[in-house]
Amino acid sequence: MTEHITDPIVIIGAGHAGVAVAAGLRTRGWAGGIVLVDAQHDAPYERPPLSKDLLAPGAGDRTAPLRKEGYYEAKGIERVTGQAAASIDRAGRAVVLTDGSRRPYYRLVLATGSRARELPVPGADLDGVHALRTYRDGLAIKQSLVPGARVVVIGAGFIGMEVAAAAVKNGCTVTVLEFQDRVMKRVTSEPVSAYFEHLHRSQGVRLEFGAAVNEIQGDGRVERVLTSDGRTFEADVVVAGIGVLPNQELAEAAGLDCRDGVLVNEQCRTTDPHIYAAGDVTRYTSPFSGTSQRLESIQNANAQAEAVVNDILDHQGKPAEVPWFWTVQHDVRLQTAGVMHPEDEAIVRGDPETGKFAVVYLRDGRLAAVDTVGGLTDFRPAKKLIPTGLLLDPALVADPGVKLEDAVLGADSRHSIHEAGAALV
Ligand code: NAP
Repeated sequence: MTEHITDPIVIIGAGHAGVAVAAGLRTRGWAGGIVLVDAQHDAPYERPPLSKDLLAPGAGDRTAPLRKEGYYEAKGIERVTGQAAASIDRAGRAVVLTDGSRRPYYRLVLATGSRARELPVPGADLDGVHALRTYRDGLAIKQSLVPGARVVVIGAGFIGMEVAAAAVKNGCTVTVLEFQDRVMKRVTSEPVSAYFEHLHRSQGVRLEFGAAVNEIQGDGRVERVLTSDGRTFEADVVVAGIGVLPNQELAEAAGLDCRDGVLVNEQCRTTDPHIYAAGDVTRYTSPFSGTSQRLESIQNANAQAEAVVNDILDHQGKPAEVPWFWTVQHDVRLQTAGVMHPEDEAIVRGDPETGKFAVVYLRDGRLAAVDTVGGLTDFRPAKKLIPTGLLLDPALVADPGVKLEDAVLGADSRHSIHEAGAALV
């Protein structure tokens, strides 16, 4: 089939990844058509504030748009709203939308994101039971966080803990039910979990671990949550933050390789050379650890969007970026560089009692990730060190008086880290 260069680049999904692809294409010189297909009607918006600023007491009802009003028109980016992609005709290089219209593409970008995992228990559909994914979800939760409301949060991940912090600030009574044995277990180590558990409890949040919810009861509206060990938690509001699932069905139905995410290479190409994927929906091999991962973060969405733009426009690729994440709970910031694995050696730097410390994760003696709490001292050096694969001295790492970059084993390697770091900034 010949190239239809006159056809536009069609992007499915207008979250952080989709919008970054559209904007990047224009900024970097794509003069052809760009179509941004968005199932929602709201102008594309920032997601991080949905579980933080939007829920803060006294905050307004808006979340910041990703681009200013008029941006898409000014840049010649056609927004198709209230429409999802129903199917992909790969042979004909066209997408069929839910209204039946056909959109031919020169290149297709799947930025379909992820959706909240649904609570698989009776009563999950009662009024007052929420998930938090969209601006509309955030608004509904915000309106229910009234002083005195009994809020039960299910899941102690980022969503659960950020919502719990916002809810107590709004004067609600908050209980978190988590079936793991600590908070944020998927993303951090025991010392960081312990610090945040203490912080939440000190602010009045009740934390219940090993709690498997098996029913939500109420007469039309939620009244209580039941756990499998026979306990009952009275509730006016329930917020479930129990993880996400990639929106990969469209890709799967089109015969693209998927395995808990659409599989992509470093350039974010799928198994069809004319179709890319970026953001939460993708799974790929980490260039740093060699493990397969699906990263749900803005940094990943933006980095992958850039990779897509580079590849479509035939620009040189750029070095892979170290993933990073952040959360803010009760005004304390946890910021992470890299991706820790549970089997990593976790070394605490500094005293958690002071509210300012870091946890360094070594894998085979090399830096894999760093969590910084209450300060960012080790964050930037870690971002530079992770890609170098240099060996670190655990005893020096454990000494907060020694800079992280000076914990590299051997003077020669220390020299090379500065060079490597300079190249990677
Ligand atoms: P998450 O980080 O995966 O945490 C969900 C937690 O809920 C896990 O510990 C999970 O345990 C637990 N869980 C699952 N099913 C449960 C059940 N039935 N009862 C009790 N606990 C249960 O997901 P999330 O907090 O829902 O966040 C959703 C997405 O938004 C993630 O991609 C997250 O990264 C993103 N997000 C990020 C930020 C940030 O970066 N600051 C903020 C908000 C949201 P298992 O691991 O055993 O399933």
